[in-house]
Amino acid sequence: MAEKSITILGSTGSIGKNTVDIIRRYPEKYRVKALTGNRNVGLLAEQAVLLRAELAVTADKEKYSELKELLAGTSVRVEAGDNAVAAAAAEEADWTMSSIVGAAGLVPTMEVIKRGRTLALANKETLVCAGEIVMAAVREHKTTLVPVDSEHSAIFQTLEEQHRGSVDRILLTASGGPFREKDLAFMEKATPEQAVAHPNWSMGAKISVDSATMMNKGLEIIEACHLFGFPANKIEVLVHPQSIVHSAVGYQDGSVLAHMGMPDMRTPIAYALAWPERMKSPTVRLDFTKIAALTFSHPDEKRFPALRLAKACLAQGQTATAVMNAANEVAVGAFLNRQIGFLDIVRTVEKVVGSFDLRPTASMEDVIAVDFQARETTRRYIAERIKH
Ligand code: NAD
Ligand code: MG
Repeated sequence: MAEKSITILGSTGSIGKNTVDIIRRYPEKYRVKALTGNRNVGLLAEQAVLLRAELAVTADKEKYSELKELLAGTSVRVEAGDNAVAAAAAEEADWTMSSIVGAAGLVPTMEVIKRGRTLALANKETLVCAGEIVMAAVREHKTTLVPVDSEHSAIFQTLEEQHRGSVDRILLTASGGPFREKDLAFMEKATPEQAVAHPNWSMGAKISVDSATMMNKGLEIIEACHLFGFPANKIEVLVHPQSIVHSAVGYQDGSVLAHMGMPDMRTPIAYALAWPERMKSPTVRLDFTKIAALTFSHPDEKRFPALRLAKACLAQGQTATAVMNAANEVAVGAFLNRQIGFLDIVRTVEKVVGSFDLRPTASMEDVIAVDFQARETTRRYIAERIKH
């Protein structure tokens, strides 16, 4: 097999590190074009040397000289700043992993899409902010988009294109997060440490908090609607604490095709990397005899109002979901900085969405402007609340 050239946007994060872990095992198969990160330039430099990357980019301009110094004497080119991240995404590569967290991934991800390349998409916020524009661009440029989010990888693998008209429902599973069995009194006082301690998955801080509020599942409903073109009422969320069934598709003859495996992101990453083939991954194999039970229930939308909110925003369209996403990013940041409580996260998002003038967004510029404005509104709202 010919060498594949690879770029990883967000290589220093949880998904990025798992991607590096797979690629480093096959130095003869992959040639690394670019790696991008943010402030952890120590790890970025280490990865660039390990994978003999051509280019290493930090999004933070203040970190340029540190990264440059760390890579002195190597052949790795060094760049810095948001524009440099987008430029790295635009450089020729056969396969790109989009694993920057949040709306910061939107512009670089679009650079890949516009060039009609193969895109492994972990950055779900891109679809939440701009799903209509992004999917139109995917169609226009004939981009190969392979989802990396474990549920969406599962649906991608079990959705039979030729039987799309026979699909009854998409079963989107959720672990339920660390507060699955906690009451509202507990959640009101929950700390960042408790919220990021996910029972089954080891992930970045933002998505861990999103799992605790179940906003993550709300974002994933929106992601699934855009990726697979089904309306929200075809998607059923099931809380499945064991995280073995990663999602499933139900057909009108009663068949349900489910995707199963151990909860390890290296499986969906390897799937996206090898697609349309399959490759070996170091993931521990699923042993059915060691599973005591697989349980499923519907989520409690009273304790987890983010689900209801996400569906309401989806019904209102892309501007509402972009505002919701931006407000959520800011509110999660404020919670992690101990400025607001855990339940204040979704309360804040709901307030901001409710007060926002939701004019249609038709272009990337519109979305970026709405994202910026929603962040400002959320910061102001939180600052006001803290004062009182
Ligand atoms: P993370 O916080 O661990 O890593 C984020 C990466 O983005 C890092 O490389 C960081 O340097 C980079 N980054 C952060 N801010 C940036 C900015 N302003 N500009 C450029 N780069 C920036 O996050 P993660 O858990 O790896 O998640 C990444 C994405 O994948 C998210 O969209 C998340 O929802 C999605 N995802 C993650 C998992 C998981 O298991 N971690 C599972 C499914 C989906
Ligand atoms: Mg997921």
